Amino acid sequence: MAVYKAEGVVLGRHGLGEADRVLDLFTREFGRLRAKAKAVRRTTSRLAGKLEPFTHARFLLARGRVLDVVAQVEVVDGHADLREDLHRLGYAWLLADLLLQLVPEAEPHPEVFGLLLDGLELLGRYEPGLVASWFGLRLFDELGYRPSQDRCPSCGAQARADLWSPLLGGFCCARCAEGDPRHVRLGGEAAGAARFLARASAEEVARLRVSGRAAARLVAAVVSYAEARADRPLRAARVLQALER
Ligand SMILES: [Zn+2]
Repeated sequence: MAVYKAEGVVLGRHGLGEADRVLDLFTREFGRLRAKAKAVRRTTSRLAGKLEPFTHARFLLARGRVLDVVAQVEVVDGHADLREDLHRLGYAWLLADLLLQLVPEAEPHPEVFGLLLDGLELLGRYEPGLVASWFGLRLFDELGYRPSQDRCPSCGAQARADLWSPLLGGFCCARCAEGDPRHVRLGGEAAGAARFLARASAEEVARLRVSGRAAARLVAAVVSYAEARADRPLRAARVLQALER
């Protein structure tokens, strides 16, 4: 049986049949891929504990007819800290959902894989809303969806400093904003943070401080922008909203 190696992160999983699972992985080598983990819902499985969501691991995979099969797992970082904190966990799901909705399967994006590792690591230590916003903005950039900053994406006029249009594609002018029912006024603090984070390195995220209110607006702006690109709602965002309440 042909086997191959991949370094990846478990983005999500669901049950298959009586004891198997299908895993959504994001790998350095192959981008997003789905693989089957056999019998991992049985208590005797030696793989089961190694396939929790957000586990970063080296995988040995065997080619299968429909889905490839997980043969071995060597955990690099289990990210157990994320799963113990419901608030951070919600944001980790948002990172996963952004990848699942915006990155097609079998498209290698090694730079996005690096971004995911940084994002998961920072989520454990800093304001998770800010980290998730940074991740989203950097992801848009890597995928060629960078939001406009200074010019209105619709007419090319000077964009208003804090007028955000998910549909048009970023900061826009007052006239064109009327054409997007989901446009919002982010406020100066969130708008400034959005511009900063779009270019920030992982180290720079750690230095940014914003109010809880601005962070919440920023997350909402990133989510609505992603939903407009994917043309469908992000489930993780609904879960987060429920958590915040
Ligand atoms: Zn315009």
